Amino acid sequence: MRAHLRRYHLQATSLLVQNDRQQHFELYFNHRFLNRIRWAQIAAMLLVLLFAVLDVLSLPAHVWKQTLLIRFCVILPVFALVVAASYVESLQRRLQWILSAAALVVGLSIVGILWVARLEQTPLPYEGIILVTIFFYFLIGLRYRGAMLCGWLTCAAYVAMEWHAGLDSQRLWFNAMFLVSANVIGSIGSYFLDSAAHQGFLAEQALRDLAERDSLTGLFNRRAFDQRAERAYRQAAREHRPVAIAMIDIDSFKAYNDHYGHAVGDLALTQVGKVIGRHVQRPLDVAARYGGEEFVALWFDVSEAGALDILEAIRREVQALGLPHARSGSAAVVTLSAGLVGSTPTGPGELKPDMHTADRALYQAKQNGRNKVQTLEHEPGVRAG
Ligand code: GH3
Ligand code: MG
Ligand code: MG
Repeated sequence: MRAHLRRYHLQATSLLVQNDRQQHFELYFNHRFLNRIRWAQIAAMLLVLLFAVLDVLSLPAHVWKQTLLIRFCVILPVFALVVAASYVESLQRRLQWILSAAALVVGLSIVGILWVARLEQTPLPYEGIILVTIFFYFLIGLRYRGAMLCGWLTCAAYVAMEWHAGLDSQRLWFNAMFLVSANVIGSIGSYFLDSAAHQGFLAEQALRDLAERDSLTGLFNRRAFDQRAERAYRQAAREHRPVAIAMIDIDSFKAYNDHYGHAVGDLALTQVGKVIGRHVQRPLDVAARYGGEEFVALWFDVSEAGALDILEAIRREVQALGLPHARSGSAAVVTLSAGLVGSTPTGPGELKPDMHTADRALYQAKQNGRNKVQTLEHEPGVRAG
């Protein structure tokens, strides 16, 4: 189960690009119930075999030959295909469509079996349809919409078949009432199960946000940054893409706090965090509050020159916020300084040295008068990189 959820998180990251919550939930749902979906198909296949034996024991040969044809050539392969599809990563996203199509084929096939038996004057019990309906709603792993579609269409097909085959109207009403009731119960029950799963999904998301986000700025926290940055470095190494890392620090912030108070300081931190976050938007980019009034940003597949432009825009926007800073040595408003390094990593081991380089560049930006963004200049006696 854990492996399934890990794979779900990876696929979900790419879905976040499209920002599609509904699809995100569907993916979560499919992964959460992947095992159940597989076991349900296997249990169904065993039941099909059992009913095949019953057919042979209870029906004349010319009838069971037809019903077994439907069971073995349609129903069993459909279940087997669903199990196979559940192992193909690219199909897992479409699992609800696949399950719906499979369930519909199975439902109509069962109606077909009942029809064959009816035409041959050896009617089978209609309860098989009720069994299949319950399977759709509660076991197969369909969300309620797909289950309702298959349940109600199978019900309609069954009633139409019996009506066409000339079942006496009292029995037809009787059977239809039971089947409709099973669908009503299934629809309501599966709707509530679906919404319970949705609540679980939202709670899990909220917990993840709590664990990974800094509550003041909404950016990632240091731990989440470290994990994501390592992942980005690994991917950059695999794909030979550049990354850029910036250490960003608010200028003379101790003096700001001393002068305006900690609460106003917090507001300034939030505003600066928002500006940074607006410029670190793509799925593999990461912006985090690294501690105190220090931020870190990572841009994936962006050159050092490109990142320098972004950082300069951030610096200008923060200055343009116009938050008065009477005790700053560098400007009349709150400003920031940043140190940047760009590289094309060969592995995650280069993350820490790169951050160290960015930190040294930040130190130089402070030395050079603050309110500046820059890469590391040559340091006499210190080897760069
Ligand atoms: P420099 O320009 O060299 O960066 O000077 P600075 O005063 O910003 O540097 P320093 O690291 O000495 O001070 C950081 C200050 O940031 C100390 C503390 O008052 C403030 N600070 C750290 N975390 C928070 C926070 O969560 N909220 C608020 N309001 N202030 C914080
Ligand atoms: Mg500072
Ligand atoms: Mg600092």
